[in-house]
Amino acid sequence: MPTPSLTLSPIVAGLWRIVSWQLTVPERVRWIEQALELGITSFDHADIYGDYQAEAQFGEALKAAPSLRERMQLITKCGIRLRSAQHPYRINYYDTSVAYVRAQVEQSLRNLHTEQLDLVLIHRPDYLMDAAELAQTFATLTREGKVAHWGVSNHTTSQFALLHQHHPLLTNQVELSPLQMNALDDGTLDQAQQLGLRPMIWSPLGGGRLFTGEDEQAVRVRAEMTSIANRYGINLTTLAFAWALRHPSRPHVITGTGRMDGLRDAVAALNVHLDAEDWYAVWTASKGHSVP
Ligand code: NAP
Repeated sequence: MPTPSLTLSPIVAGLWRIVSWQLTVPERVRWIEQALELGITSFDHADIYGDYQAEAQFGEALKAAPSLRERMQLITKCGIRLRSAQHPYRINYYDTSVAYVRAQVEQSLRNLHTEQLDLVLIHRPDYLMDAAELAQTFATLTREGKVAHWGVSNHTTSQFALLHQHHPLLTNQVELSPLQMNALDDGTLDQAQQLGLRPMIWSPLGGGRLFTGEDEQAVRVRAEMTSIANRYGINLTTLAFAWALRHPSRPHVITGTGRMDGLRDAVAALNVHLDAEDWYAVWTASKGHSVP
């Protein structure tokens, strides 16, 4: 099976929280331009972000400054039916049916004011996913030119393998941070390397818990990382990104901040090479015990 190719920037800007940034359209245009100037060319969305409003907010900026589109890669996700005022489902649930994936992809195209999405991910594993049928949906939407590449998020290795067997996937977007290390042990990052596919990493700062968490683990990790960061002459954000980037699967690490300084700190990590001893010192602080 040919490996799909798409070049994403090593640091990807995540737009989950864009609605809370309360930017005007010109401010959003400027924000995107500044991210591009930093070398962040990939932008991570999902249909449901910001109560289904995030894509449209970004899209308004692309409508105002259409030339930005060709300088970036647009990533989005679908497959979660999230209850909201406009979506009064009884419960939240997952849906990877032909009709729903098509409807959400077409809505994302409208929201983002674009003809094609560079990468669409199935947001969470749908227990009712029919892999062969979903692969057909992928193939049809690709043929129609609506989506260039496909991938998944939060999928186990076997769920990834099942779908990948039917349609080439580009990535598995998973959580990894000094506070959440399951992907190191559950095979996700091994599988990525085995297949030569670069994973994407979400919440590399633990959603902010790295800075504000008062639980034992967060306090311990913050203390250790502060001491390492001081030694390297960098801040905690840069160290956390460098820690994730150090993994041999060559992950694309997603930011969550609306602050340009926060994006700059993330990009600075590309020039930091963590010593293995320091990488393991973060691991040790996270686990609360030494390696066996
Ligand atoms: P994160 O980088 O772990 O957390 C970002 C949060 O940390 C923001 O609220 C940010 O606030 C805060 N923060 C950053 N620096 C801080 C500091 N020095 N002090 C205090 N707070 C600080 O990333 P995330 O937003 O959780 O996730 C990143 C992206 O991953 C999302 O935008 C989304 O694209 C993607 N994602 C994907 C999934 C999935 O299931 N596939 C799940 C979650 C997220 P400020 O804005 O004030 O800096």
